[in-house]
Amino acid sequence: MFRKLLTFDEAKKAIESQFRAKPLGVEEISLLESSNRVLAENITANMDIPPFNRSTVDGYAVRAEDTFGAEENRPVALQVSGTVNIGELPRTAVRKGEAAEIVTGAPIPEGADAVVMIEYTSRKGDRVTVFSAAAKNENVMKAGADIKKGETVLKRGQLLGSREIGVLAALGKAKTKVHMVPRVAVLSTGPEVTEPGRNLPPGKIYDINAYTLSTAVLESGGKPVYLGVFPDKAGELHEALVRALACSDMVVTSGGVSVGPKDIMPKTVDALGEPGIFVSGVAIKPGKPMTVASIAGKPVFSLPGHPASALLTFQLFVRPLIQAMSCRKTEKRPEVRALASMRMFPAKGRRTFIMVNLKSEKAKGLVAEPVPTAVSGAITALAKADGFVEISEDVQFIDAGEQVTVKLFKTEDYLQAS
Ligand code: AMP
Ligand code: MG
Repeated sequence: MFRKLLTFDEAKKAIESQFRAKPLGVEEISLLESSNRVLAENITANMDIPPFNRSTVDGYAVRAEDTFGAEENRPVALQVSGTVNIGELPRTAVRKGEAAEIVTGAPIPEGADAVVMIEYTSRKGDRVTVFSAAAKNENVMKAGADIKKGETVLKRGQLLGSREIGVLAALGKAKTKVHMVPRVAVLSTGPEVTEPGRNLPPGKIYDINAYTLSTAVLESGGKPVYLGVFPDKAGELHEALVRALACSDMVVTSGGVSVGPKDIMPKTVDALGEPGIFVSGVAIKPGKPMTVASIAGKPVFSLPGHPASALLTFQLFVRPLIQAMSCRKTEKRPEVRALASMRMFPAKGRRTFIMVNLKSEKAKGLVAEPVPTAVSGAITALAKADGFVEISEDVQFIDAGEQVTVKLFKTEDYLQAS
């Protein structure tokens, strides 16, 4: 197969125009399943929240005017007309000179327009003494104060987190219409790669990529489908890929894409169908041998085996496509400015991504320090990095002390520091 390296930008464009990320459709699912999904409908409140005027404290429901002028040493005495239970309509009303015992969240009885906190009262038999005046509506939450009937509370396209799910629950919605998410088949390759949990024979290593990539699929809004580890044998690999395509909307493999004799992934993928591989290597570091194919309209990403390369190429090329297919907004990766701790060299003619740690130094502020990647294959290069510095193809080097932009893996820690 003929290989022509595309630039980073060419590869991005080729992937975008090949797939034009079409939404997969809409499904109705239970509220509990809806977390981390994208809403496919506008939600208009079909009721007031709260549905009735309710007390926000424990105390006595009163007519505010009956308590006017009440003070510590000039209390007002009222007749207790009854008790309002929570969870049912009041069976008692409050007439002039009366008060009804009430708890937080219970409906305000007819006639009452305020609640006096229990702390400002003293009860003896069916008389209650009030030591503090209540203003009209004091300690009363009006029907619709939270959400008004007819109000649009959530919009199509919103990502559903705990707060949005809470709004849906408040409105009594047991089901929601959400955008469908792509199922992404994940498979690893190599005779040395062993599933975690098994005994590790000499010369073998545990599968990292299936787990990092599956997690990254979830984080991007997709549904990972783990298929296992396959040897570098054309027949078995072909079969696994056919199965992967049958059960998913997208396939992500790792390993076997370099130019060694065992690297049979590209040939095997290309033979699966039309149009086949359209990105055959990208001028980036790491991740150069990555290939992308379209098989009957489904994307097949074959990422390098090296765990840091696999995860980085996933973040750069696969994640945006999953987000688009899931109708998620492709948010820009958060970034901070920092000073380079040392000279950083790009690989000649390739867009280079250097994993860095951020340190806060008194005199300089944030400093970006490359994570040593001398030990090839180190997963820790990624696990320990706070983010990466992207060096353009045409830059010779970045000098020590120069300002760089660090794209962050995690947002929480450094946005405030910048
Ligand atoms: P390859 O791209 O298949 O030549 O693999 C490159 C390096 O990554 C080799 O050292 C492999 O052992 C390692 N590797 C490949 N696949 C995995 C995997 N799933 N988990 C951990 N390491 C892997
Ligand atoms: Mg391999």
